[in-house]
Amino acid sequence: MHRITLIKGDGIGPEVIDCTLRVLEAAKVEIEWEEIKVGEEALKEYGTPLPDEAIESIKKNKVCLKGPVTTPIGEGFESVNVQLRKRLSLFAGVRPAKSILSPEDVDIVVIRENTEDLYSGIEFFAQEGDVAESVRIITRKASERIAHFAFQYALKHGRKKITIVHKANILKATCGLFLKVVKEVSSFYPEIECEDRLVDNMAMQLIRKAKEYDVLLCTNLFGDILSDLCAGLVGGLGVCPAANIGENLAVFEPVHGSAPKYAGKDRANPVATMLSACMMLHHIGEEEKASIIENAIKETIRRRECLTPDLGGTSSASSFTSYIIKKIR
Ligand code: NAD
Repeated sequence: MHRITLIKGDGIGPEVIDCTLRVLEAAKVEIEWEEIKVGEEALKEYGTPLPDEAIESIKKNKVCLKGPVTTPIGEGFESVNVQLRKRLSLFAGVRPAKSILSPEDVDIVVIRENTEDLYSGIEFFAQEGDVAESVRIITRKASERIAHFAFQYALKHGRKKITIVHKANILKATCGLFLKVVKEVSSFYPEIECEDRLVDNMAMQLIRKAKEYDVLLCTNLFGDILSDLCAGLVGGLGVCPAANIGENLAVFEPVHGSAPKYAGKDRANPVATMLSACMMLHHIGEEEKASIIENAIKETIRRRECLTPDLGGTSSASSFTSYIIKKIR
């Protein structure tokens, strides 16, 4: 029996998590969930969107399955997602983007440094209302850590090439340091090809020749943006899972956000969350159950059975989930 922290999140979060719990139950994975409120509900109940008990629960259980959490735009509290990653040192964002409908297509993993860059949270008005400043922090320590993680990930998962994404022509200090450190680290891993691309060119290359890319190693902001771009290449945000990995903690969540306009409509695609749960199952050693669920999802999508609207179907998320469950049983 695994004990795992569960955060349902905001907007479509509870719906996509509930569909995922149904699938995990059908696959008979033995999990005792410790559900913790985070986000809008926690704010109402405890006066903070990220109560300490959420941090304590994840530290204790070491693994968490999480739905998306809403962040107010241009005002309000600091993103719960950013806070979680920083407070728990979940330094590696792992975001696979693999075509499900056409298997020979795109198969990219974005590895994103999760703790620093422009997400350091140091922002202020140098002149109230007129001049705003934001501090971009890149350190050798965090760059080395994410670089070793990326190369070891590549070795473990049979990946051949890492592309470092940067803007070191303009951001000579911050991106320059990241690029230099990752190149130094690459010399420890001669089996893995290592190249680099300017982020603007990278965005264009992904649209034109995504098949040429394997693992993209990015700083925080570029990884955030390019992982959504990669999601767009493989069927959209509804199908892209993610993991946030630390030294001995891991939080699994879809790449997408809380999509408030779809909340309560039973139409948000739960696949991204289901595949995040599969990444979690691999992490906790439940390889067989993970494969059973992954295969059931792939088969349902490839046969174009009962798809949700984002994949061109008309089905509700709960009926789509029932189709997947039939293939598991
Ligand atoms: P979003 O990812 O919530 O939605 C963008 C669009 O993607 C949606 O309008 C929808 O068309 C599509 N989409 C997303 N998830 C889908 C799904 N499961 N099925 C079908 N279509 C889906 O991004 P946003 O609208 O920019 O952000 C909404 C909120 O989510 C914001 O408050 C943002 O801060 C937050 N957010 C949270 C996380 C997280 O919790 N990790 C990540 C990203 C954004």
